[in-house]
Amino acid sequence: MRSRKKFSEGYRDPARVKQVASTIGELSQSFDEIKIIHLCGTHEYSIVKNGLRSLLPKNVKLIPGPGCPVCVTPAGHIDAAVELTLSGVEILTFGDMFKVPGSKQSLEEAKADGGRVEIVYGLADAISIAQNNTDRNFVFFAIGFETTSCTTAAEVYKDRIPENLTLLVSHRLMPPITEVVVGMGNLPFLGLLCPGHVSTIIGAKPWRIFPEAYQMPTVVAGFEPLDILTAIRTILEQARNGEAELVNEYKRAVRSNGNTKAKEFLKKVFKKTDGHWRGIGTVPSSAYELREEFKNYDAAERYGLHLDMGEDIKPGCRCHHVIIGRAVPTECPMFLEECTPSSPFGPCMVSSEGACSVWAKHGGSIDASA
Ligand code: SF4
Repeated sequence: MRSRKKFSEGYRDPARVKQVASTIGELSQSFDEIKIIHLCGTHEYSIVKNGLRSLLPKNVKLIPGPGCPVCVTPAGHIDAAVELTLSGVEILTFGDMFKVPGSKQSLEEAKADGGRVEIVYGLADAISIAQNNTDRNFVFFAIGFETTSCTTAAEVYKDRIPENLTLLVSHRLMPPITEVVVGMGNLPFLGLLCPGHVSTIIGAKPWRIFPEAYQMPTVVAGFEPLDILTAIRTILEQARNGEAELVNEYKRAVRSNGNTKAKEFLKKVFKKTDGHWRGIGTVPSSAYELREEFKNYDAAERYGLHLDMGEDIKPGCRCHHVIIGRAVPTECPMFLEECTPSSPFGPCMVSSEGACSVWAKHGGSIDASA
C-alpha cells in the first residue's frame, strides 16, 4: 500500500524506477556499505517525499550535506540584520530566514520587539517595495548559493537597486564547501551527487575536481526520482569498476560550462572572499563580496556593520554535524523533542531545505542496521 501511494505521487515511470532500483540492488552486493553525499535541499526533499531511501538496499546510504543556504548563513549576519532593524532600518528577507536563530534573536523575535521585517520572494520584490517607499530605508538580506547570487549580481549590474535599498550580502559558493566536506578524512563518502540548480549556473565542469583529486564518482543529477536513482546507479557502477569520473545526468538543464550570462554577472559584480559557514567554520574563497565599484549597494559599508560568525551552534544542537553529513537528523536528541518545525532550536529545522525540517515534516530516516 505504502509504495503504491508513493509511486502515484512522484514517479512518472514506475517501471523504469523499479528497473534502476533493481540494478542498484545488484551493484550494491559488491560493497559492505556505501555512503553517497548530496548537496542540495531540494534533492533531500525529493528523496524523502518520494521515499527513495526505501527503494535502496540497506547498505546504500544517501547522506544530506551542506545544501541548505539558510542553515549555513552565519548567526553573526542574522545578528547584524537584527541590529539594523532594531535601529530603524527595515529588513527584507526570504521567508525561510525569518525564524532562523541568531546569537540572541531571530528576525521574527526582533520584529516582535519593534523591528520592521518584511518577507519577500526575492530581490525584485525588495526593489519594488523600496521604490514605492522612498522615504524609508531598506536592507535586503541576500543569502543563497550561486543560483540566487546571480540574480543579485544581475540586478546590481543593471543598476536597478534604488538609493534607499542596500544589500546584506551573505551569498556562498558550493564547490569550495564541498571540497572541505569530502576532504575530511573521517567521512568516508564513496560518491558525490551534485546539485542540479547550482550546476545550471556554474555548469558541470567545476565538479571535475572531485573525481580527479578525490577519486570520487561524481554525478550531476536532476530532481525526479528517476534522476536521483540513475545518478546513484552510475556512482555504484563506477565504484564497482574502480573508476571515478564526472557524469552529467542532468543534461536537459545543465551544460558543461553552465550559464555564461549569469557567470558574467557574477564575475563583474562580485569577488570571491573567505566566508564563514555556520557550523563549519571559515572556508577560503567560498563567499561573495561586492566589488569596489558596487560598494554603494553594500549594507555593511553604509551602516558600518561588523560581520562576524556570532554564536554559531547552540549547545545541544547537532546542525554542525548534520550539515557536513557526519550525523543525520534523527541522531540529534532534540529532534522532534525540544526542536520542531513550529519551535525550531537550530537552523536546520527552520528552512524548508534544512535536513531536520524535511525529515520532521515528511518522515525521513536512514536504516542504521546495515
Ligand atoms: Fe539542531 Fe534541531 Fe536539527 Fe537537532 S533537530 S540538529 S537541534 S536543528
